[in-house]
Amino acid sequence: MASPAPVPASPGSSSQKKRGATESIGLYAVQCCECHKWRTVSTKDEFETIRENFTEDPWFCSKRPECSCEDPPDIEYDSSRIWVIDKPNIPKPPPKTERLVIMRGDLSKMDIYYVLPNGKRARGIGDVQKFLDTNPEYKDRISAESFSFMVPKIVEETVSQSSLWKTKKAKKQDKINASSSKKDKANASSSEN
Ligand SMILES: [Zn+2]
Repeated sequence: MASPAPVPASPGSSSQKKRGATESIGLYAVQCCECHKWRTVSTKDEFETIRENFTEDPWFCSKRPECSCEDPPDIEYDSSRIWVIDKPNIPKPPPKTERLVIMRGDLSKMDIYYVLPNGKRARGIGDVQKFLDTNPEYKDRISAESFSFMVPKIVEETVSQSSLWKTKKAKKQDKINASSSKKDKANASSSEN
């Protein structure tokens, strides 16, 4: 698989409590271009650095101290968690901003937000432009080109396998079962009369 800088999201994390409020990504990983093993990346900042230049500067196990392609992978690409795959070469968020990747509650789509230096959230480049227009003092430090609202691709197979998804489905099934058994009872009582 040639996909470069991916992000696995852990399903059912505590971020579900405050839906849409916090970052959905629970773990970062990168695939070695040589052996194709997955290596976890410990911080978001490091991940964003790797992702920024991924095409010109592909990642290899040997970039990590004391790591080589001989070592077993840190993480397996499987359905034990939901995986989302980022596009390469997304610019690093400008200073004093944070890029948030948020999974929708129904796991259908992700949204990108930037937290701007004034604490407000930008949902699109229009919001960034508006911020720069009202706060021109940031114009020399923050350029609109540094923002990317490119959403990662959700790996659907891993969503349908995830425990969160299964729980949701099971709950739905319970509801259906519950309502149909009610109906049965109603039918039963009516036939008694
Ligand atoms: Zn390797």
